[in-house]
Amino acid sequence: MARQAPQAVLRWSGAAQLLEVVRTEPGITRAAAAQRLGIRSGGATELVTRMRQARLLDETPAPAQGRGRPTTMLVPHDEGPLVLAADLRAADWRLALAGIDGVPHVVTQAKYAGRRLAPVLDQLADAIGKIYRRNTKRIRAVAVAVAGTVSDARLVQFTPRGWNDVDLSVLTARIPERAGVGLLVGNDATLAGLAEARSGAARSASTALYLMVAQGIGGALVVNGEPLTGAHGAAGEYGHMPLGDPALVCPCGARGCWDLSVDGRALARHRGDTAPKDPVAYVHTLVDHPRRDAATVRAFEAVASTLGRGIGGLVNLHDPEVVTLGGAAAMLKAAAPSAFDDAYREALMAFRKETPPPVCDAEYGEEGPLHGAVALALDHVTAPAALADWVQRHHL
Ligand SMILES: [Zn+2]
Repeated sequence: MARQAPQAVLRWSGAAQLLEVVRTEPGITRAAAAQRLGIRSGGATELVTRMRQARLLDETPAPAQGRGRPTTMLVPHDEGPLVLAADLRAADWRLALAGIDGVPHVVTQAKYAGRRLAPVLDQLADAIGKIYRRNTKRIRAVAVAVAGTVSDARLVQFTPRGWNDVDLSVLTARIPERAGVGLLVGNDATLAGLAEARSGAARSASTALYLMVAQGIGGALVVNGEPLTGAHGAAGEYGHMPLGDPALVCPCGARGCWDLSVDGRALARHRGDTAPKDPVAYVHTLVDHPRRDAATVRAFEAVASTLGRGIGGLVNLHDPEVVTLGGAAAMLKAAAPSAFDDAYREALMAFRKETPPPVCDAEYGEEGPLHGAVALALDHVTAPAALADWVQRHHL
């Protein structure tokens, strides 16, 4: 992005605020948006006109409500900015496009091209380059959600595929540098937590804890709509806190990690099975099975208790208004609800036991990381300096 003069940035700060309102309340009318911003209707009309000319927003007639004056709904402009979100999951990857309304539309999805890292990065960079060329002028940021530990733009540890220390900036190698397209990288659980806090099950909470079980457990504490990501984006490794069995050594190098005691691998261990290749599929299979034998019931109880006890500890630590569960976590809680509840309450400090924060299912489920990546990219694209850059690039 080209550096913008301070007055240009200032000129677009009202627009940035209006876009934030539109993102928070999709389908909001112009009148309601003006009210949220505390501006008069004349000011709102002027602002919206300027934003239509800048291809940032458009208006469509709002469905009539009562006998009030007809009003219009603020919607993304047909030629407005787009963001590209990539979701790098354990077994496959997908790419989605979204406009300023933040709704991801998946455009490509595929399995990884083999076990080796270099061909996979090539495959992804190609796919991203292709989508970029079809939307050259419009894509302004690429955000990557990855099921591994992320530090700055590096993927430090991607356990499911055994990759370490990967520079993800190569993913935008097919996009010319002069295009000034931003690249943002985040851990999948952190981004899913962001999505829940912005527009999902935790949307009205000022402090929300999100936890997601896949292979291991990750999460994010989101405060006033921003995830705590640490100095390098690597915070939120809840799975590597010693809330598990101290006899077990984790692939991360630490002992007693929570990761090993709250997922499909833990269920298999308790049942005397070999470690499953796909721990999430293993949980699904056991949950869907019409009959549960005693060993499976005990395995679910053991895992749900370890999950509940750890969450109690984290509630003591973070004091969230709400805890949301994504991935397989909600299923594990539901598979042994009393074991979960007992362990959760027992772990809470006495003064919290009366009104413990609710532990709810996440709204976006598997789509959380994608929604979060879009939100992260849009934060970048709708900042005042980025809007000034957009207008300058398009000569609007
Ligand atoms: Zn660990």
